[in-house]
Amino acid sequence: MDIMKLVNKLAWLPPRWVATLERQLKKVPAVQTQIDKEMTHLLDGLSDSLKPYQRTFETFARLPAQGQARAAILSDLQAMQEQEQKRWQDGYASGAVYHGDSEHIAFLNQVYALHSQSNPLHADLWPSAAKFEAEIVSMTAHMLGADHSPNRDAIVGTLSSGGTESILLAMKSYRDWARAHKGITQPEMVVPVTAHAAFEKAAHYFNIKLVRIPVTADFQADVAAASRAINRHTIVLVGSAPSFPHGVIDPMPALSALAQAHDIGCHTDACLGGFVLPWAEKLGYPVTPFDFRLPGVTSISVDTHKYGYAAKGTSVILYRGQALRHYQYYTTTDWPGGLYFSPTFAGSRPGALSAACWAALVSIGEAGYLDATRRILQTAALIRQGIERLPELRLLGDPLWVLAFTSDTLDIYRILDAMTARGWSLNGLHKPACIHLCVTLRHTQPGVANRFLTDLRAAVAQVKDQPAPAGGMAPIYGLAATLPVRGLVGDMLKQYMDLLYKP
Ligand SMILES: *Cc1c(COP(=O)(O)O)cnc(C)c1O
Repeated sequence: MDIMKLVNKLAWLPPRWVATLERQLKKVPAVQTQIDKEMTHLLDGLSDSLKPYQRTFETFARLPAQGQARAAILSDLQAMQEQEQKRWQDGYASGAVYHGDSEHIAFLNQVYALHSQSNPLHADLWPSAAKFEAEIVSMTAHMLGADHSPNRDAIVGTLSSGGTESILLAMKSYRDWARAHKGITQPEMVVPVTAHAAFEKAAHYFNIKLVRIPVTADFQADVAAASRAINRHTIVLVGSAPSFPHGVIDPMPALSALAQAHDIGCHTDACLGGFVLPWAEKLGYPVTPFDFRLPGVTSISVDTHKYGYAAKGTSVILYRGQALRHYQYYTTTDWPGGLYFSPTFAGSRPGALSAACWAALVSIGEAGYLDATRRILQTAALIRQGIERLPELRLLGDPLWVLAFTSDTLDIYRILDAMTARGWSLNGLHKPACIHLCVTLRHTQPGVANRFLTDLRAAVAQVKDQPAPAGGMAPIYGLAATLPVRGLVGDMLKQYMDLLYKP
């Protein structure tokens, strides 16, 4: 019997029983062998699409005995870049590349090349890196309501390598702050289910108990549930502006007030919205307050490498007050290597990315961000309208530019497959099953929004009229979303990563 069908039949059992049963079953060699076989089969199907260059380019599993000619290397790299560029450049991807105009990219590359040797760890050698980072943090803080914070609680922060690092840093800071100031040794963080996976990662890395709270029917964090979830171990309350899955802003005013009443941290994850919402508000769109103008908000993560239009590899973590930032810093004074300190998880860091980030912010300016936001929100409104006109589809929540939709009558993952077949790279989500398009500047190019809607209409019609074809991702998504044996799904993802690291 197909083991996947068997485990699916366990769906009616309580999850804790299933987890125990799963651990026991996996100790039986025959079961493990069968699982391995099924996994290999599933992953074999993906291998070709994940390793498209195995036939066309030389594979280096070991160092070449002699260095290869630079010209040959460059020509191979160019070929791969050309192969990969078209899809995101022409606006077929959800998120991924947020600006992508060739002149902007060429400018950032020029800046990167100028500062490619810079390392902010050596502030004596590269004072420019310190200047760039201090100014990026300050510009971002002022964009997010720093002027409304009294001086003793000035908004400060650091640059990090991405949204995940910003979130990890903030959660670690709260853990250490709560231990020092409130004697909390068994910390808990209260996090909506729709918050980014990075919060779960933080809980896992730093031994913080993750207390999940549900969202309401409109996909906003349930404030009453948050209130019930807070106890004497709670260190921080989290909300998103907006959330990655459904693009919905959590009720930050209520969450901020709740956190203030309990003297705990309140983190707004504005990784996605930090460089959009301030301008959306100026343009007159309805924007739930989420930034430092709310007195209870004590930290914000905001990604410069998304809608800040910097190159990949930078984000900003902001805190209300120096004291909190000090819990992020690391210093050691007894190391034979000398006095050592670093503000984030990394030691050496790419100063060139800080330079490129600074250059992006300074070259775009308020007027540039305002204009980019206007174009994105207009395009997103057009696409949203088109989705809402399709009776088979249902939009989730009330989003501005991250548009999640599902279907009550059709298999949404088959629609995802049909869109993939038309060249689109959309995000497949679950709980509930849906897909989303995160609108970027790429989609504001002439014709892209209409092409998306034309393809979507065709995809819906195809799924409606034709029986399910064999293969595709739909069965895998369906299985992964409903499989009660979550450990098995996790194992599958680990094998997928193993596959990525196979030369
Ligand atoms: C992208 C994103 C993150 C994580 O950012 P990375 O840069 O991928 O690490 C966190 N939160 C939200 C809401 C995001 O959209």
